[in-house]
Amino acid sequence: MARELTSVEPLLPVIRQRPLGLLSDIDGTLAPIVPRPEDAAVPDAVRALLGQLAARGVKVALITGRSLDMARRMAGLDDAAYAANHGLTLWLEGREEAAPGIAEYESLARRAESDLLALTRTAPGVEVENKGPLLAVHYRRAADPARTREAILQAIERSAAARRFRIHEGRMVVELRPPLDIDKGTVLETLVQRLGLRGVICLGDDITDIDMFAAARRLRAQDFASAALAVASEEAAPEVARAADYTLTGQARVEWLLAAIVRALP
Ligand SMILES: [Mg+2]
Repeated sequence: MARELTSVEPLLPVIRQRPLGLLSDIDGTLAPIVPRPEDAAVPDAVRALLGQLAARGVKVALITGRSLDMARRMAGLDDAAYAANHGLTLWLEGREEAAPGIAEYESLARRAESDLLALTRTAPGVEVENKGPLLAVHYRRAADPARTREAILQAIERSAAARRFRIHEGRMVVELRPPLDIDKGTVLETLVQRLGLRGVICLGDDITDIDMFAAARRLRAQDFASAALAVASEEAAPEVARAADYTLTGQARVEWLLAAIVRALP
């Protein structure tokens, strides 16, 4: 288990690197988890701190499972880079880039969506979100989450279109993603290269962020400064904290961390 970060001191060797990247997940990390995913937002204080980091030359990048439009709306940062849809869609230097090979998955996602919509009638509390080349099936509002999750997995098994996707599970969500070898880890490596970073602090709270933490660790073996921080909560899977270098207890601690990094910048 990673130890709790109570002072920014251990991060100083990373913070001194230039260019420095702050690569962060959004939901559950920068934005508190809320019952309706569409209501989630990055608090103003957190947005202001990210803006201060960017103004001081830190490359801020948001790596999220959200669609690009939603990610940009939630973060509200014009000068940040975005890796949306788990890295399938990038926003770099004011331009959108789609990963090669994802075009056919947009029509497949529409077919899978219509197959899975039947669930919203038989399993209350299920929401199917079409994110372009991927689908997210949320069950946070279901009365019996464990049974609802089973019903979702069975419905996927019955749909020929849905079966073409790879299943990924997160906090109260089953996602269908194109079976391409792109994840938050490969995206971290892409961003390090494209932004020319010499050091990275990455933040996440969920299973998909483990790939990002592992990539940060691999880079460290190549003489690159990095630190992986997990936001721990009762709901978060314990393996996320195990994969990180440090933990922050609760999403509210992220604001403390960002303020401490701003103060520690050389
Ligand atoms: Mg998250």
